[in-house]
Amino acid sequence: MRTWLTHLLLILAAFEASAQEKFIFENTPGKLPKTVVPRHYVIHLEPDLEQMSTEGAEGVEIEVLKPSSQILLNAVETQIWNASLAHGSSREELKPQFDAANQLVKFTTSMPLQPGSYTLSFAFRSKISNSSRGLFAQSYDLRGKAESLLATQFEPTDARRAFPCWDEPSYRATFQLSVKILKRNTAISNMPAVAEQAFGNDQKIVIFGRTPPMASYLVALICGKLEWLEDQVAGIRLRVLTTPGKKEFGEFALENTKKLLEYYNDYFGIKYPLPKLDQIALPVNFGGAMENWGAITYNENLLLFDPANSSSATQEQALTVLAHEVAHQWFGDLVTVAWWDNLWLSESFATWMERKAEEHLYPQWRGWLRACEDRERAMFQDAQENTHPIQQPINGEDEALAAFDDITYWKGQYFIRMLEGFLGNDAFRDGIRVYLKENQFSNANATNLWTALEKSSGRSVTKLASTWIEQSGFPLVKVTAECLNKNRVVTLEQSRFSFEPNDNVRQPWIIPIGILSTADPHAPRYALLEKITENFDFPGCDGALNANADSFGFYRVWYDPELLSRLGRDWNHLSEEERVDFVSDTWAMVMSNRTPVTSYLTLLDRLRSESSYSVWHNVIQALTMIDRLESGQSGRAAFQAYVCTLLGPLFQRVGWDAKSDEELATKLLRSDLIQTLGAFGDRIAIDEAFRRYEESRKAQANLAPDLRRAVTEVVGRYSSPAIYDELHESVQQAPLLEAKQDFYHAIEVALDPDLAKRTLQLAITTPAESNAAFSAVAVAGEHAELAWEFAKNHLDDLRAQHNEKLWSDLLPKIAEGFNASGYADELVQLVRAQGSAESLIKAKAAADQLRFRAKLKDHLLPDVDDWVLKKLDGRVQAAANEH
Ligand SMILES: [Zn+2]
Repeated sequence: MRTWLTHLLLILAAFEASAQEKFIFENTPGKLPKTVVPRHYVIHLEPDLEQMSTEGAEGVEIEVLKPSSQILLNAVETQIWNASLAHGSSREELKPQFDAANQLVKFTTSMPLQPGSYTLSFAFRSKISNSSRGLFAQSYDLRGKAESLLATQFEPTDARRAFPCWDEPSYRATFQLSVKILKRNTAISNMPAVAEQAFGNDQKIVIFGRTPPMASYLVALICGKLEWLEDQVAGIRLRVLTTPGKKEFGEFALENTKKLLEYYNDYFGIKYPLPKLDQIALPVNFGGAMENWGAITYNENLLLFDPANSSSATQEQALTVLAHEVAHQWFGDLVTVAWWDNLWLSESFATWMERKAEEHLYPQWRGWLRACEDRERAMFQDAQENTHPIQQPINGEDEALAAFDDITYWKGQYFIRMLEGFLGNDAFRDGIRVYLKENQFSNANATNLWTALEKSSGRSVTKLASTWIEQSGFPLVKVTAECLNKNRVVTLEQSRFSFEPNDNVRQPWIIPIGILSTADPHAPRYALLEKITENFDFPGCDGALNANADSFGFYRVWYDPELLSRLGRDWNHLSEEERVDFVSDTWAMVMSNRTPVTSYLTLLDRLRSESSYSVWHNVIQALTMIDRLESGQSGRAAFQAYVCTLLGPLFQRVGWDAKSDEELATKLLRSDLIQTLGAFGDRIAIDEAFRRYEESRKAQANLAPDLRRAVTEVVGRYSSPAIYDELHESVQQAPLLEAKQDFYHAIEVALDPDLAKRTLQLAITTPAESNAAFSAVAVAGEHAELAWEFAKNHLDDLRAQHNEKLWSDLLPKIAEGFNASGYADELVQLVRAQGSAESLIKAKAAADQLRFRAKLKDHLLPDVDDWVLKKLDGRVQAAANEH
């Protein structure tokens, strides 16, 4: 990667710091007072799966920093007894006072405590949940028998559900856990087990080593029947653990963990700090993956790779998720965010590092090109009214949970990529090393990072960063150029990109912009746009100009018509990244009413010789959006027929069967094309999907893993009740979560309304299998109305199963299937009446998007329909003339 420094045209002006002060414990936000802090926990747990509760004993060495007669910590749905406080030889019994609304428990002492060390101890009983919060149980099928597994998910604020603790990230302490389990089971925690004692005939107590000082949300405990593969690298014991019968599918993860640890040990400049790293594949979806220090948990389909039955997409995903979670062992665990307003510091970094590590280990997978897909999603959210800055105040538990979204992960990822490009790879890496070294075994916020990067690069970072981190939205850069004396004067003008353009908003970003000409694509020049509009000199007048060199920038570019048509003419000289940016920016200009949709359709019609997966993936997203707007409209059949004429010949070139030595991108393109042609009613694709499905069923053989998702989706979409039953049975029989999810997805998208009703009923009777069912039935299955009415009629059940996520996630996602703005009001009213303030924000964002689609529908479809009819007529004419 080239460095921005060498070509920098403008030096950053001195900044007035608008950012936070560096991390200081006393000044960190949170509910808990900073007067009494934990230093060391000893926690013993005795989980009881029949009662779905855990009895425990806890002793906490605490330090009183300022005189206080109150000790306040977090607890949820927990009973506490036998509480006492010891200091030297004195001991006082304490009574717990619960504040359920604030998830707190308070102990009041008879006399104010003076600064010093004390030991707080108590017995407690907490709940085991079914919903992946706190300590939870998973039930899975093991060779025809129901088996259970216990695991924890504490981030952000659920350690308090398992044991009372100071459950805010800046209260670092050491932990020593022990657990009573069945003798036949294995228990995993952050540190290796140091002792095991038999207890009765069939139980044992496992005692784990003491952890380094760490945040409570990173504590982990996993107990069950487990088997594993193991290896070691640089003196660290590595294991990948699975439920019985699956350990060999951990080979890919184990091999790559070795490579990643070596890469990170070097990149971060600090060796992995624990004696072991366990990675555990959980058989039921618990929400993704979690970076518990030394004991990372994963949905098994995000970790395991079965060469015979896993798709190439799963393999790539396993690598990126692994790279993400292992990077967190430094970024998040060794150095932890001070408070959840800085969550991005952890998540944006791990998300950036997953692509960086992928490019390092598997450059042929083109990880950064793939990342454009995520950037699109983040830009779509960030172009709406109800978006939020990457860094935002977080007041309560619900807000902390809601912060894990596309803006935090993907906009943050791109901002960091842009910053790395601006500072140069080496200076950036050196700054990361300084940051980690200065803050290891402690907490930090953004200012700690900017200071370290300024130290390593000698450049001002804080002011630039604050324009990206602290304000919402992102820029549109308008580019015009004039040729003067054989050189170009390039004028860059920035405004906020929004789907509802508002010229009154003048909010400047400091934007590093790479400009290159197709006449000399290896010599980009770099400009730093700080004002609303600035001119920059660019040598020569040849070639087409591109104002997002290397596709680093999280901004949209709007070229003047002359520059745009020149770029279009030079299509074959553009890099794949540039071609993706071209189609994606053009579609964004259509959605924001800056460019007519007919220009976009004309552009697509010229792409017939284009073969890039990333370009087509982007285009297919746009075509799918238009198709959803067409739902129930008279123009839909013609639009779908036209898209089939556009994609059909491309699919003929790609073919149904993979060639040996085929690139990952081709496999992904094939899958995309089958799904799209299938959904758009292409008879040949649908028939062949059914033929392949029937063939594999009769032969009792598996579908080719790279085709499974696409073929079953097409079959599921048009399935009869009999096929629906077969697909549902395949969900039960598939040994790995990956295939289970593919079959489940297939039944979710059934067009037959009776089958859609069955899926909704299933979703409510077996919620663990189907947490995406409502959204899939509503959007891909085109039964938003059914899903909406069904959800409204089952609000009590759904609330019991999904808690607050019913309001913040499930209902807003059903609304994504509507294009009529009336439902926007209904959604907001429903969530306002029953959900939290945070859920209301999510509901309002979904309502905004719905109103936006309704407007887009009125605005685009007449032109789309008109253009398509002319195009199809032209084809019929041309065909008639040929004969
Ligand atoms: Zn993460």
